[in-house]
Amino acid sequence: MSAKIIDGKKVAQLTRDEVKKDVNDWVESGNRAPFLQVVLVGNNPASDVYVGAKTRACKEVGIETDTMRLPDTISAKELEATIQELNNDDSVDGILVQLPLPNHLSSHNVIESIDYRKDVDGFHPMNVGRLTVGQPSFRSCTPAGIIELFKHYSIPTKGKHAVVVGASNIVGRPISILLNKEKGEEGKATTTVCHKFTKDLTQHTISADILIVAAGQPNLIKGEMVKEGVVVVDVGINRVADETKEKGYSLVGDCDFESVKEKASWITPVPGGVGPMTVAMLMKNTLLAAKKSIYPQ
Ligand code: NDP
Repeated sequence: MSAKIIDGKKVAQLTRDEVKKDVNDWVESGNRAPFLQVVLVGNNPASDVYVGAKTRACKEVGIETDTMRLPDTISAKELEATIQELNNDDSVDGILVQLPLPNHLSSHNVIESIDYRKDVDGFHPMNVGRLTVGQPSFRSCTPAGIIELFKHYSIPTKGKHAVVVGASNIVGRPISILLNKEKGEEGKATTTVCHKFTKDLTQHTISADILIVAAGQPNLIKGEMVKEGVVVVDVGINRVADETKEKGYSLVGDCDFESVKEKASWITPVPGGVGPMTVAMLMKNTLLAAKKSIYPQ
């Protein structure tokens, strides 16, 4: 078997087109355009790339945006005061603090200082908690994007065994919760979450009907570790040295694509899989924030 490709680039474009139309309708009915404030601390080159992709997407769909660049010497107090100002500013609908932050800043404290009603990344404990108990919330963009891909390709999750490799707060844990949901249209899978203390990873991955890999480890999952017909979502984005490329590196996922695709029924490529969906879902969340759809007050 050679897997069918889950084309995240295409589905993300469809999602952005939908958001663009909704933003247009929103503005035509007399509202101001949604506004996303991005906060970028320090000079992390990868963060610059991600913020660039997000601001380009905003422009495409008609969301206004600004990137506030702050020095990596900023204190926790100063950063939290800045966020507080944005929380109090009615012209700001969404606030996104690009991670990672410099080491002296606690991402937990910074995320908690954002008004959860403007937390379009879906990282605030209020949103994570509401997601966990099945209440409306901003959903973390990457897990939300994966669910969108399953919907688009009519890939069923009900009753399946979903194995998630990686247990971060922004990908692994929230996708395991969404896949495990018992109520509503989505989820209804039995989920296993693996992390770096998991003994014998293959014992788990080989039994997966759906395998989500978000460990940040190139080539962690190889063809012999999965069963025939598995649906594979490779979230990982890793830079590996590549002299044939002008930049000197290539981007690869956490799966050995060539061997895994021979056994999978569906697979996401890297790049062009989950990454574009993450950005598209951020657009969706920002529109929801502007419309106050999740938190009316
Ligand atoms: P984190 O580093 O925060 O989390 C990785 C998780 O994987 C941790 O739980 C870690 O455990 C676990 N892990 C590490 N090594 C192994 C292993 N050998 N076996 C099992 N589990 C392991 O990363 P993120 O969740 O933020 O991101 C994961 C990957 O996804 C990265 O490559 C990142 O760049 C990419 N990413 C892609 C996005 C997209 O839009 N496509 C969006 C977000 C992330 P421990 O914490 O104990 O080390």
